[in-house]
Amino acid sequence: MLPKFDYIAPKTIEETFELLDKHGQDARLLAGGTDLIVSLRARERIPKAVIDIKAVKELHELSYEEKRGLSIGAAVTLNRLLHYDATSKHFPVLGEAASTIGDYEIRNRATLAGNICNASPAADSAPALLVLEATVNLTSRKGKRSIPVREFFAGVKKTVLARGEMVTSVTVPTPPKGSRGGYLKARRTVGEDLAVVGVGGLVVPSGKSGRTVRLAYASVAPTPVRALEAEKIFERDKPLDELLDQAIPIVSKTVSPITDVRGGKEYRTNLVEVLTRRLLRQLWEAN
Ligand SMILES: Cc1cc2nc3c(=O)[nH]c(=O)nc-3n(C[C@H](O)[C@H](O)[C@H](O)COP(=O)(O)OP(=O)(O)OC[C@H]3O[C@@H](n4cnc5c(N)ncnc54)[C@H](O)[C@@H]3O)c2cc1C
Repeated sequence: MLPKFDYIAPKTIEETFELLDKHGQDARLLAGGTDLIVSLRARERIPKAVIDIKAVKELHELSYEEKRGLSIGAAVTLNRLLHYDATSKHFPVLGEAASTIGDYEIRNRATLAGNICNASPAADSAPALLVLEATVNLTSRKGKRSIPVREFFAGVKKTVLARGEMVTSVTVPTPPKGSRGGYLKARRTVGEDLAVVGVGGLVVPSGKSGRTVRLAYASVAPTPVRALEAEKIFERDKPLDELLDQAIPIVSKTVSPITDVRGGKEYRTNLVEVLTRRLLRQLWEAN
């Protein structure tokens, strides 16, 4: 059974901020509710007010323009994002990652913004957003600010969102022409499950070696992480397997997997290596 709370569904963004101001720490935003309802049921935190943002029209914007990139409003569902032409055309890594979240019914409610605001280390969209160098747009009554997604996560289930502030949209810049991206997720079952390890990658044609590489991981650290140090190895002009041999020990220092119900620390450490090699071989050959 759910605890008792006031349910409020504002129609405008201004109304939403008034409610956030009025209820402060006692309020929780609800987008798709696929994380929030679970945490309410578990009585992890009992808010006095639940503010449903799905009726706020401005938050449903989904648009793409080459220069500006992909703009994803906070109320856009994952299924809508997945069925949007520009997603598969320009951002396959994001599409692949989003398609692994829950099942079809979950994706009919769940949002990308909710996935990152929940700040689970296992958030599948996060590695994709990290390698695509997305920007998170935050708004409060005091004003707006935009931050790189890399700076958004502050710890397990923690973000840098200030009191009265919400994510209004996520902007994803168009990757350079010829880039190849992908997401690999290891899970316990064939169907719906959280990641034991998730790896997102983007290979961008540039630099001395003709390529630069971006790598990011889910479920292997308190927050989703980008492997910036290891990425530098791929700037060298060497065969991929040699580069991987040099990069993997650096990736291993970047991540800090733990043992939990989904997998052991050692198993996760091995998966990081296996999935990184597999993903980069796929993306490398495709270039
Ligand atoms: C059966 C099941 C399977 C799942 N499988 C996966 C999976 O495979 N991979 C995965 O990553 N996740 C999974 N999830 C988790 C969940 O579906 C996703 O994290 C989803 O994207 C959350 O989006 P939502 O819109 O439902 O968020 P909500 O539940 O509405 O919100 C999540 C949190 O973010 C806050 N919030 C929401 N929107 C905003 C905003 N705009 N600004 C500030 N704060 C906000 C809420 O207050 C809440 O704390 C699963 C959940 C279920 C129930």
